[in-house]
Amino acid sequence: MSLQPREQASLKAFNSFGIEAQARLFVQTHTDQQVREALALGEQRQLPLLVIGGGSNLLLTRDVEALVLHMASRGLRILADDGVQVLVEAEAGELWHPFVQWTLQQGLGGLENLSLIPGTVGAAPMQNIGAYGVELKDHFVGLTALDRRSGELRDFSRDECAFAYRDSLFKHEAGRWLILRVRFALSRIAAVRLDYGPLRQRLSEQGIEQPTPMQVSQAICAIRREKLPDPAELGNAGSFFKNPQVPAELAERLRGEYPDLVAYPQADGRVKLAAGWLIERAGWKGCRQGEVGVHRLQALVLVNYGNASGQQVLDLARQIQADVAQRFAVYLEMEPNVY
Ligand code: FAD
Ligand code: NAP
Repeated sequence: MSLQPREQASLKAFNSFGIEAQARLFVQTHTDQQVREALALGEQRQLPLLVIGGGSNLLLTRDVEALVLHMASRGLRILADDGVQVLVEAEAGELWHPFVQWTLQQGLGGLENLSLIPGTVGAAPMQNIGAYGVELKDHFVGLTALDRRSGELRDFSRDECAFAYRDSLFKHEAGRWLILRVRFALSRIAAVRLDYGPLRQRLSEQGIEQPTPMQVSQAICAIRREKLPDPAELGNAGSFFKNPQVPAELAERLRGEYPDLVAYPQADGRVKLAAGWLIERAGWKGCRQGEVGVHRLQALVLVNYGNASGQQVLDLARQIQADVAQRFAVYLEMEPNVY
């Protein structure tokens, strides 16, 4: 199948904020060969490259003077199965949540806490997606990426990806690596993770004390549907800020001033603060400035009420950053990739 590049294409349907921006050139790729053809086209037209999956971790603040490559490759496969441990591989363009559901339907546990995260498999390693106490890295085995510098394929092990809290090597070498497929080790023996209070509480309200991975997934989907705005109805990119990890002394000082501070000690001695709590405490929850606002149920989520520009979202985010820094001496780092 040949590439069908489109000039000056709207990206509104390709970012979960629903922000209008034009791509100078837009192509959708389904195979490795098409990815290579798209890269050659970009070079021929002397355009930089922006790879996108579901556009659910992206804030477009201007038109994209680049070749936008939309990863749309499909394919799910079991590579090895010893009856307990199972190695699965998914193509980058597979949608994350349907992929998780597929693993659960195969009787494979591991990814259930990451249910209902929007986006694609290929983008998931970028920020080492995480939710409810599980991160992608916990079940990650390896990935195959195309190196734009050399044009060669390279397999990455988990250590080589330098995964950290909402972070990876790929975030730091943005534009160099095109992730083509990702591999996970899953298990037929369930070892569910119920560390997060609301999850355990939801299951126990349902009378489920020893849940299966499928039941954990269903509980998480229900909690998320109640709390988070659906991008199809209200544009957003999930959490707009990462939870800051601060020195223990600062957390202690803040707790003296705010006894209800939400804080979690980390293995490295630092303390993770809930960014949502800081923003809510600063009075931003539910606020609206024209077309943009802070969600009324979740202070970490910035929303587009319909016709916001990316710049308006960014302006609001910067106001929140400055206010939180002034009140609590804590810097909130933005999570989405800002273009
Ligand atoms: P995109 O937004 O398309 O791209 C993100 C970045 O990755 C960009 O820099 C892009 O250039 C790059 N990229 C995309 N695909 C590739 C590829 N194949 N190769 C190389 N680079 C690539 N995140 C969490 O971690 N946990 C959550 O619980 C969570 N919940 C969310 C809830 C909502 C309602 C929303 C809207 C978002 C949420 N997110 C969450 C953020 C987001 O869903 C994830 O970061 C997701 O992995 C982004 O996938 P995507 O395909 O949409 O990436
Ligand atoms: P929540 O349950 O209200 O908790 C608030 C914050 O406290 C979370 O951000 C979480 O940090 C932290 N937390 C809660 N229980 C914890 C525990 N037992 N140990 C350590 N940290 C704990 O959070 P929420 O907003 O409803 O989100 C639920 C989960 O979904 C979280 O893991 C969150 O990261 C994830 N989520 C992510 C996005 C995104 O776009 N990145 C969007 C929606 C939801 P962590 O965030 O570090 O887990």
